[in-house]
Amino acid sequence: MPMEKVSLFWFRRDLRLFDNPALSAALSGEWPVLPVFIFDTNILDSIEDRADRRVNFIYREAEKLKKAIEQKGGRLEIHFGSPAGVFQFLTEKYRVAAVFANTDYEPYARKRDTGIEQLLASKGIAFCTFKDHVIFEKSEILKDDGTPYTVFTPYSKKWKTALGSVPLKEFSLAGKWQHLLKEEPAPMPSLESMGFQKSRFDFPNTTVENDLLEDYTKTRDFPARDGTSRLGLHLRFGTISIRQLVAQARSNSETFLNELVWREFFQMILWHFPKVVSQCFKPAYETIEWRNDEVEFHAWCEGRTGYPLVDAGMRELNATGFMHNRVRMVAASFLTKHLLTDWRWGEAYFATKLLDYELASNNGNWQWAAGTGCDAAPYFRIFSPASQAKKFDPKEAYLRKWVPELETRDYPPPIVEHQMARKRVLEAYQRALTKHFSDTAIRLKNGGIKYQNS
Ligand SMILES: Cc1cc2nc3c(=O)[nH]c(=O)nc-3n(C[C@H](O)[C@H](O)[C@H](O)COP(=O)(O)OP(=O)(O)OC[C@H]3O[C@@H](n4cnc5c(N)ncnc54)[C@H](O)[C@@H]3O)c2cc1C
Repeated sequence: MPMEKVSLFWFRRDLRLFDNPALSAALSGEWPVLPVFIFDTNILDSIEDRADRRVNFIYREAEKLKKAIEQKGGRLEIHFGSPAGVFQFLTEKYRVAAVFANTDYEPYARKRDTGIEQLLASKGIAFCTFKDHVIFEKSEILKDDGTPYTVFTPYSKKWKTALGSVPLKEFSLAGKWQHLLKEEPAPMPSLESMGFQKSRFDFPNTTVENDLLEDYTKTRDFPARDGTSRLGLHLRFGTISIRQLVAQARSNSETFLNELVWREFFQMILWHFPKVVSQCFKPAYETIEWRNDEVEFHAWCEGRTGYPLVDAGMRELNATGFMHNRVRMVAASFLTKHLLTDWRWGEAYFATKLLDYELASNNGNWQWAAGTGCDAAPYFRIFSPASQAKKFDPKEAYLRKWVPELETRDYPPPIVEHQMARKRVLEAYQRALTKHFSDTAIRLKNGGIKYQNS
């Protein structure tokens, strides 16, 4: 074991060498810093698609980081395994003084980090975490009574007041690179050795033009136009800095800034109400009798519902890993309302396909579309895919791009008739709400002691 003490810096959803709070703190500390990245088998084992786009993206970014760190005179250790096993190994191999990381707010990450913190504590090693992924985390934005917000508008007002107009602090790394541990470059496991394949994908840029942001309010709802930033993937993996993006939004587009606040709103909801991962935010909706027809679900997944906007969106998703936000809303509404399929099915499908997949935003938006979430679209709001297409794709450019056989015999007839589906879902939701509230009334009548239904 070398005598020299080291700090470890653990890359997670912050795959960048600029404006990085935990890395900046590690490099400002007493000990030389060894950066580490782990291809986490707990996550990778659950991915079915061996050519998964996100895994390819992370691999590419890890390669870039490794090269850049080596150019700065350090090394990046890249491991393939469970974080607990890797930290056991690292703490045996090095004299670790402290481990630095930026906070990850998802339930799996919270559990993982608690375990790592305990492992490190048992060896007398500090685990130091920093806020990076969001502007305001955990309980920083609360109602005046100290409870979390569940409605977006007042949350966003408080968020913006707290942001104020002062420049956001940047965590500069300039002049600190000499604190990297100097060692020989370490080998990197190949994608193939981890059971994945290299695939060719075009990943979006890491920057957005001010011109796009200035027009964002006018263009963002039209899927045929390049009117949105496509930065979701980079926000997810921290290949850009949220502080720099918020600063750019603040000077160029209030509407765009609002979208970044929605992202934090859902992060905050997931933090305070982790039950949303598997349950409706509003328990009243847990009694909906979903139809969950597998044949219809597969037709939806494959873009064969006979509703052109829904099909175009699903085909865009399957082909590119992206779907425009307007179309995501229509596709999600169609699955949950027209086909009366549990939002959890759609959420899980999006999770396997979206390049910008993020648990908090995906869950929050699916529950929004299904009407089961906090501050959700009211359940009786049922998008008509045809009217949405007319309004947001008036020249049918988007439809024709993704559904070229639109006016031919090859295109399937509608899987369900719109008016009938509308009536059916309204009845199903009303039945569920009536049942929930009558069960609650019985509970109240019985003094909350005899439960007829949970
Ligand atoms: C059913 C459904 C599922 C979704 N799943 C995800 C998901 O897994 N991951 C994800 O990042 N977004 C998700 N969204 C939100 C939104 O559709 C995407 O963030 C957006 O389309 C990404 O494209 P963009 O980067 O060009 O967005 P832009 O319009 O350029 O917005 C910039 C950023 O703001 C944030 N943002 C924008 N809209 C929302 C929103 N409604 N909720 C939360 N954050 C938002 C995102 O970080 C986005 O990258 C979902 C929306 C719906 C309706």
